[in-house]
Amino acid sequence: MRMPHEPDAVTRLRKPTPDDPWRVLLSGCMAGLQCGVDGTDYGFGGAMDPFFEGPLATAYPFCPEDAGLGTPRGWPDIHGGDGMDVLDGKAKVLDQDGNDQTQGMITGAEAMALFAKQERVDFAILMDMSGACATQVISAGSRFVEERAYSRGVGVAAASLLRAGIPVVSQRDFRTLDALRARLDPTHTPDPDARDHHETAWFREYFGTDKATSD
Ligand code: SF4
Repeated sequence: MRMPHEPDAVTRLRKPTPDDPWRVLLSGCMAGLQCGVDGTDYGFGGAMDPFFEGPLATAYPFCPEDAGLGTPRGWPDIHGGDGMDVLDGKAKVLDQDGNDQTQGMITGAEAMALFAKQERVDFAILMDMSGACATQVISAGSRFVEERAYSRGVGVAAASLLRAGIPVVSQRDFRTLDALRARLDPTHTPDPDARDHHETAWFREYFGTDKATSD
């Protein structure tokens, strides 16, 4: 499930302990892996470090695009649907030059889900807006157009994780991340003004709703 859309999912997670901390799948670029399309971490390395500074959560970094397509690579964007549709053969992934990267993205997505199962992760924190890792918003087609368009939906790897039963949340889902932090630190008081991505003014204005399209 997408944790921002099912707030009870946070409370249903098992209690982490120093001997058995939460095992959290993390988009590789946010862990500083040089796995972006251009061989960098896009400057996101360390973005989630505060979440992992205590003894109750351990990061398991993985990059599905690197696993399926290698690095460097073209920019893979979904055309004609979201990651669920790609897995179902109803949508394609193309790079900025029109090269079909669908199979590589599926291969990487399946590798990430397998990694998640093997490492027995409790949930995943993923980079939103990515054709692989997005959990809330993806590019609607190529991002290399004069006016980039967006869709509600998940990336291909996030879709694969969801179908494998792994709960997901994005780095932009501040309300849910705050609630997770409160489970790691009982002295932490969640910010009542924190909003998840689908609750922001931009999301509501752009899409005309705060609802997800698929789970
Ligand atoms: S596929 Fe995911 S982990 Fe890899 S660079 Fe893109 S957002 Fe980061």
